[in-house]
Amino acid sequence: MRFVCGSCEAVVEAGPTTWRCPCGGPYSLSDDGSSELPADVLARLSLGEGRTPIVDVVIGDRSVVAKLEFASPTLSFKDRGAVMVVAAAVVLGARRLVADSSGNAGTAIAAYAARAGLPCEVYVAATTSPAKLTPMRAHGAVVHAIAGTREDVAAAAIDAVEDTGAFYASHVWNPWFLEGTKAYVHELHAQLGGRLPDALVLPVGNGTLVLGALRGARELLAAGQIDALPRLIAVQAAASAPIAKAFAAGASAVAAVTNEGTVAEGIAIAAPPRGSQILAAVRETCGDVVTVTDEEVLAAQDALARQGLYVEPTAAVPAAAVRQVDDGATVAIPLSGAGLKG
Ligand SMILES: [Zn+2]
Repeated sequence: MRFVCGSCEAVVEAGPTTWRCPCGGPYSLSDDGSSELPADVLARLSLGEGRTPIVDVVIGDRSVVAKLEFASPTLSFKDRGAVMVVAAAVVLGARRLVADSSGNAGTAIAAYAARAGLPCEVYVAATTSPAKLTPMRAHGAVVHAIAGTREDVAAAAIDAVEDTGAFYASHVWNPWFLEGTKAYVHELHAQLGGRLPDALVLPVGNGTLVLGALRGARELLAAGQIDALPRLIAVQAAASAPIAKAFAAGASAVAAVTNEGTVAEGIAIAAPPRGSQILAAVRETCGDVVTVTDEEVLAAQDALARQGLYVEPTAAVPAAAVRQVDDGATVAIPLSGAGLKG
């Protein structure tokens, strides 16, 4: 199994402790055919993730397609990536997993680690809601609550990985995670009768859904199943918007910001490690990076709930941005996480 560095393009043979290039760059999967996960391992670890339903919802005065990602085994889209990351850990002979998360990814990794019979430790912010910690512990994970920012939490997890040689089951750094999230686009294409909407509006913090979506859309284009890539409209919370800032400035790298705090805690990422890749992905699709205020997020959460769909604030971020998409464009949004965990 080979990884390619997204910054210096070095190619390495992946092992259980390979997680970041010595140059500091994030790895992608090599497309040389060396990166295939055995179907029997995936089948054994699957909890039935993916294949989420779609329904039409009305946001403002327009109808959009909502894909119910919260209808997943651990109630968020993170299950799509987690099954791949844990399968890779099994294939590479990992003995112990470490993850860090604002909540949903940690829950997903804990669940699949339990399925694999691997011990798992999850680093979370001390402020993480109890509703997110209870399932992690129920799955048998050891939860470490870290005081400080989301970046402090990641640093604590990385220290543990470096000190103990554990497998870093990071949804941000592990390239297998994106191999899982790309199915979002393949499913949407099939569910809409062999087409994609003009715009995919997606929440962006660490970019796992945006980067997976591009990967999936590129595959459809290469296979001749679509004529053009859908525009990726990446949405940030206005109070934590380093990618929107870099995009507006025409920059190719993302400078860290100071988080001011937002209800959309799942995407409050001050310094996204794959920032450059996210900017390039949006530009490749002639897309955009936009921001929404907490007020708009809460209004969208309410509008969705009034249509029967109760999601956490972060999951209402794409809905809050729909009015910023060109009139007449067809739009799909993910409802990425359940409200009961908010
Ligand atoms: Zn490198």
